[in-house]
Amino acid sequence: MRIARTVSALRATLTPVRREGRRIGLVPTMGALHDGHLSLIGRAREQCDVVVVSLFVNPAQFNERSDLERYPRDERRDAELAAASGADVLFAPSVEEVYPPGFATTVEVLGLTERLEGAARGSEHFRGVATVVTKLLCMAMPDVAYFGQKDAQQVLVIRRLARDLNLPVRIESLPTVREPDGLALSSRNALLAADERARALALPAALQAAAALAATGERSAEMLLDAARKAMRPYDVEPEYIALVEPETLEPLATLSGEALLAIAARVGEIRLIDNALLAPTATQTVATDAARDALPTLSQPLQGKATATCSA
Ligand code: AMP
Repeated sequence: MRIARTVSALRATLTPVRREGRRIGLVPTMGALHDGHLSLIGRAREQCDVVVVSLFVNPAQFNERSDLERYPRDERRDAELAAASGADVLFAPSVEEVYPPGFATTVEVLGLTERLEGAARGSEHFRGVATVVTKLLCMAMPDVAYFGQKDAQQVLVIRRLARDLNLPVRIESLPTVREPDGLALSSRNALLAADERARALALPAALQAAAALAATGERSAEMLLDAARKAMRPYDVEPEYIALVEPETLEPLATLSGEALLAIAARVGEIRLIDNALLAPTATQTVATDAARDALPTLSQPLQGKATATCSA
């Protein structure tokens, strides 16, 4: 695996590849690689001739200085993992390479970015994400770029900017990879103390409670959100937000009438975590009975791999 630290070194590697008509896949990451990242690299390996993994902790998308400062970094370990997963090129530029003196251009996606994470973290977060992803797409000019559904809003923002700016790239999103107990893998999980790691299960528990209630036929967003909030209480974790929204527009929903995104953010100690699940109404319109609610899975039953409550037709 080659390591490129400058845009010109990256281009020198990729220009001949493109000229030969070979497919380039890009996996943008901020490092501290885990199996979620590796699933993206693995998919890129299956679909592309040359796999580029970018490793760049983007200061522009951090709205809290402390979050940026403590963000885990271990380039040597990341390089080993990326190579073992099939990456051909690791693009690891410096901050100065990405934002040279005089840098003055940003990319801002309106609308979508004002909800959920945008509302909670402020407009600079998605401005930072949109700007750096646009730059990475311009630098590597991949045929396909891979993102995780774990950051569902980010995928929507990137699809939107790629369409709006006519970027010739296909955006692919892959399901959230979870620990066996249901916690979504995240680079920030490494920062959790042991007791916080246990309390972080509040997030998958909330998703699971709502998904299980939806599976009984409940369609009221209020009831589903209430179940999710209640499931968090034993973990002593308060949601920063928890919302049931239309999965493409992120408009809040009052009723689960089609597929819906249940998105959640919460702080566990100092560490801010996010997670989400797609919910779908059951085929039958029955309203959950008390007996059915009593039969809901307990919190100890993990979300396995994905938290999608699908039609039972
Ligand atoms: P990050 O390094 O956190 O910026 O993430 C890089 C890419 O990996 C993004 O597209 C994320 O959505 C994706 N990702 C992060 N965590 C997971 C996960 N648990 N499962 C799947 N993809 C993930």
